[in-house]
Amino acid sequence: MSGTDVYQDAVIIGGGFYGASIAIYLAKQRGFKRILLIEREPALLTRASYNNQARVHNGYHYPRSFTTAYRSRVNLPKFVRDWPDAVKQDFTKLYAIARRNSKVTAKQFERFCREIGAKIQPAEPALRALFEPRLIEDVFLVEEYAFDATKLAGWAERELNECGVQIRFETRVTEISNGHNETLRVTAQSDRDAEKLITCRYVFNCTYSGINQFKGDFPGTRIGLKQEITEMALMQAPSALQGLGITVMDGPFFSMMPFPARGLHTLSHVRYTPHLHWQDKQGIDPYKRLNDYDHATRVDRMVRDVGRYLPAVLEAKYVESLFEVKTVLVKNEGDDGRPILFERHLELPGCYSVLGGKIDNIYDVLEKLESEKFESTFT
Ligand SMILES: Cc1cc2nc3c(=O)[nH]c(=O)nc-3n(C[C@H](O)[C@H](O)[C@H](O)COP(=O)(O)OP(=O)(O)OC[C@H]3O[C@@H](n4cnc5c(N)ncnc54)[C@H](O)[C@@H]3O)c2cc1C
Repeated sequence: MSGTDVYQDAVIIGGGFYGASIAIYLAKQRGFKRILLIEREPALLTRASYNNQARVHNGYHYPRSFTTAYRSRVNLPKFVRDWPDAVKQDFTKLYAIARRNSKVTAKQFERFCREIGAKIQPAEPALRALFEPRLIEDVFLVEEYAFDATKLAGWAERELNECGVQIRFETRVTEISNGHNETLRVTAQSDRDAEKLITCRYVFNCTYSGINQFKGDFPGTRIGLKQEITEMALMQAPSALQGLGITVMDGPFFSMMPFPARGLHTLSHVRYTPHLHWQDKQGIDPYKRLNDYDHATRVDRMVRDVGRYLPAVLEAKYVESLFEVKTVLVKNEGDDGRPILFERHLELPGCYSVLGGKIDNIYDVLEKLESEKFESTFT
């Protein structure tokens, strides 16, 4: 059985940071009156927007992608300005360069930081002493922050409410199709109600790893995507590492970053964090794939390898792991760049697919939306 809802100006699919921010933008800046946000989970920002490394990038991470590094430098101050309560700044951030198997040397890293205008200085001896000098060439003190996803979720909830955006949780969109007279039809399913057909003028597909999982006339994204099941281990840091964020570059190394939402640290390792990957395709549902996956932790292997470079980590206590599907553009596999995907589907006029490679890319998405002409017939 199908039910039909009232006409919506826009349907936003996905209540992560991107879906919520876009809904708020359309309501506040573009005068959309009737916006419906549909989210398959029971709350906002519980998927990739929560299950991540929580780093507010400032460029350091991308010595092989100047554009991503540069955009991070531009976006970080805006992010801190717009979400000051959600940004943790009170920790010491270190980037260390490995002696062997690194794609950059310490000199190249320093030069790159100067080129993008990112602060960098040699770390003091007490901090250097945390690292094994035979494996680490140099250690730098830099400026990088971490975000608290629960605070971003609180912000999203308040703003959506204030803007009158209707939200439907535990509901999954299964189809997007062309309707009559420049409208779109969205099919939504939940366990509680019968299947619903929603008519609207615009659809914003902000479903991150679910971005290609729609039937009907949805053509799929033109850009190829890679899906990756990832594990971030949540750790109680030993006293020597509390108040620190550490990244070892640039190759098969690791990061130990504060995770403000839990008052813990995440431990991730380039070799052990990605468990499984595949080329994204309609019909291979990433959420189902993750659900069916056995979630066997690799924290022991992470700690063993990290302990060679940073012995204090051997005293850290494992709490649990965050497993999530990470979605990246195939074309950036080599350079680690994280541009946005922003596609207007010509086959489905009024339907947009949006994927932000990292949280601060929201500004790049809003810039794109700013140059879109939306029909302002909303009353
Ligand atoms: C392991 C990992 C580490 C990362 N580290 C960082 C980092 O340190 N810094 C950084 O800036 N970025 C990082 N990222 C990237 C960052 O998490 C994403 O760019 C960002 O969260 C994407 O937000 P989103 O709203 O698009 O996705 P999400 O938060 O996943 O939101 C998409 C929403 O859509 C919903 N949905 C999906 N399909 C449907 C459907 N059919 N119907 C209804 N709802 C649907 C989902 O339930 C989900 O809530 C990381 C990502 C991962 C996975």
